[in-house]
Amino acid sequence: MELIFYQDQYNTEIDAEVIKVEGNKILLDKTIFIPQTNTEPGDFGKIDDVKIAGSQKQGDDVWHIIPQNNPFEVGDKVKLKLDWKYRLNAMKLHSALHLLAGVFDSKFQQRAIAGVVKSKNAYLVFKNEIQEQVIQQAIEQANTDIKLGAEIKTYWDEKKKGFRWCAVKDYPPIPCGGLHVKNIKEIQGVKITKTELDGDNQKIFVELE
Ligand SMILES: [Zn+2]
Repeated sequence: MELIFYQDQYNTEIDAEVIKVEGNKILLDKTIFIPQTNTEPGDFGKIDDVKIAGSQKQGDDVWHIIPQNNPFEVGDKVKLKLDWKYRLNAMKLHSALHLLAGVFDSKFQQRAIAGVVKSKNAYLVFKNEIQEQVIQQAIEQANTDIKLGAEIKTYWDEKKKGFRWCAVKDYPPIPCGGLHVKNIKEIQGVKITKTELDGDNQKIFVELE
């Protein structure tokens, strides 16, 4: 199936065809809805007039979940409409994590071990505690970068199939399966809302300004 969200993350409406139906799940020939994962909130939106309850990845396919009374049949031509406000928010938060992780890595030699995007906030995880002062400096640098703007580049790994990289400015690239804004300027601003120690792991929570 064609994953339109990787080709054009700003595409909010497409026509598609139902190619498989299994209970309350349907598979299309192409989609603009990115699936939910442990680290991404995934997309919402409508297929014709039906609001989807989310999407799941199975192998290379993305199945869309129909909340109840699945009206779709194989061969149906349908219209997909993305919940753009929700998606744009997730793309901004996701991009903010990449930028911040890049700042921590290149300027403070702290490499994040995970990044998680929720619907309203997002957080980075480090394997050791980070001083409050360093966190403040990092967020200031990130906001300076946002003001100046810089392109976010994504590209597939040349050797490892299905493995994708994301690079912000000249910061070290980070493996990524998510979606980003094209330029960090679009993030507009980011702030720390909470820092927390989970065992030895430092978690840093952010929200958009
Ligand atoms: Zn990413």
